[in-house]
Amino acid sequence: MASQKFDMIVIGAGPGGYVAAIRGAQLGLNVAIVEREHMGGICLNWGCIPTKALLRSSEVFHMMQRAGDYGLKAESISYDLDAVVKRSRGVAKQLNSGVAHLMKKNKVTVFMGEATLPAKGRVSVKSAKGTEDLEAANIVLATGARARELPGLEADGKRVWTYKHALQPPHMPKKLLVIGSGAIGIEFASFYNTLGADTTVVEVMDRILPVEDAEISVFAKKAFVKQGMTIREKTMVKKLDRSKDKVTAHIEQAGKVEAQEFDTVISAVGIVGNTEGLGLEALGAKVEKTHVVTDSHCRTGAPGLYAIGDLAGAPWLAHKASHEGVMVAELIAGGKPHAVTPDAIAGCTYCQPQIASVGLTEARAKEQGHDIKVGRFPFIGNGKAIALGEPEGMIKTIFDAKTGALLGAHMVGAEVTELIQGYVVARQLETTEEDLMQTVFPHPTLSEMMHESVLDAYGRAIHF
Ligand SMILES: Cc1cc2nc3c(=O)[nH]c(=O)nc-3n(C[C@H](O)[C@H](O)[C@H](O)COP(=O)(O)OP(=O)(O)OC[C@H]3O[C@@H](n4cnc5c(N)ncnc54)[C@H](O)[C@@H]3O)c2cc1C
Repeated sequence: MASQKFDMIVIGAGPGGYVAAIRGAQLGLNVAIVEREHMGGICLNWGCIPTKALLRSSEVFHMMQRAGDYGLKAESISYDLDAVVKRSRGVAKQLNSGVAHLMKKNKVTVFMGEATLPAKGRVSVKSAKGTEDLEAANIVLATGARARELPGLEADGKRVWTYKHALQPPHMPKKLLVIGSGAIGIEFASFYNTLGADTTVVEVMDRILPVEDAEISVFAKKAFVKQGMTIREKTMVKKLDRSKDKVTAHIEQAGKVEAQEFDTVISAVGIVGNTEGLGLEALGAKVEKTHVVTDSHCRTGAPGLYAIGDLAGAPWLAHKASHEGVMVAELIAGGKPHAVTPDAIAGCTYCQPQIASVGLTEARAKEQGHDIKVGRFPFIGNGKAIALGEPEGMIKTIFDAKTGALLGAHMVGAEVTELIQGYVVARQLETTEEDLMQTVFPHPTLSEMMHESVLDAYGRAIHF
């Protein structure tokens, strides 16, 4: 059968791929998208969205336990884990159907099947229906990533889980070990700990949430310990011995290995790119550390072949994938889009308290040779935070002392994942401390702390 021709073929319908397809179609390109499993990728089906649905349930549960703080009564509070999971799966399903609808609306041709790249400009799609051949001058790889498996710590879905198992748990953990304290590990630790699991988090680095500013890691650790979690830093899980109903973890700290029993383990030790089996090497695309090597505009070096999102490396975030998708579609359509710069991309972790950040940490700003001014503002100094019953948290801002450029912003506390975008916009518009100080923030809002943190960097904070 003759191959079907398109202007652009996208492989993978996650937030990178489906957004690239829509933007390409908006720009008048004839676009096809190939997906082997589920529209919406990891983000909508097994990542961002279903985790936030679970975390919302644990947050409401936590609020119900605190009802007395608000002068309310909630007695015999309990939960139904199956119903909590059912809600999360329902939310994922709703959004997954939404992506299929968007493809239709934008006249993107969808092929459900496994894609390979047999030659330059060619895509072969295998499905139960057989094989279909497609052709396009421009191919966008957006095949995403999967959980990293470390030898001896492999998931089995029974007692040792990856995020996929943790999203559809076969049982409620009583004694839970979470290996890895990045965003994924910490979110699951927060969810299960709030629902009552005796939770231990083990982190090999010297602090949890190691990509965040050190002060935020310390703040978050204190809050988690107060909530009953055990946090072990500079610690490594060497091996897991499994039996029917328990796992013995061999845990090394300061050169000593001890055995500890858990009924459930979540392995959250990072991700690896889905690079295998596509035929990348034959086309001249380079793979390093499981990710496709790209330039600032997601070009792989092989003509007409682009890689975006998790496949193309850190930061492994849905909004980074989507923004790269838009940029690549605009490039293919003949535009001159700006490159996506990692420092402009905010990261959010939806634990309790929430964490959000953008730009340089204090340590990185110093490493880069900036002379800096640092501002801090605590939630306890904010009227809205106190009215909400959320007095724990802080906002830290870092400025270049010479230019007044906002180098980084770091937050921990209630709703900070919604606040961070204010600083992201500020950075995008290259505002200085002066612009931010002159901006009027509405009262009473948590956002006033963003103002106060900037004022504090210049010795002008009002409410603390
Ligand atoms: C538990 C968890 C929570 C997360 N929470 C957040 C969060 O709160 N915020 C955030 O920004 N990010 C979060 N992430 C990360 C986010 O999910 C990813 O950054 C995002 O999904 C990457 O998008 P992508 O389009 O690059 O790839 P993916 O979403 O992984 O999509 C890739 C798609 O390609 C398909 N595919 C792969 N190979 C082929 C092939 N050969 N042929 C056809 N199709 C193929 C896959 O089936 C998949 O659907 C989370 C991730 C996890 C695991």
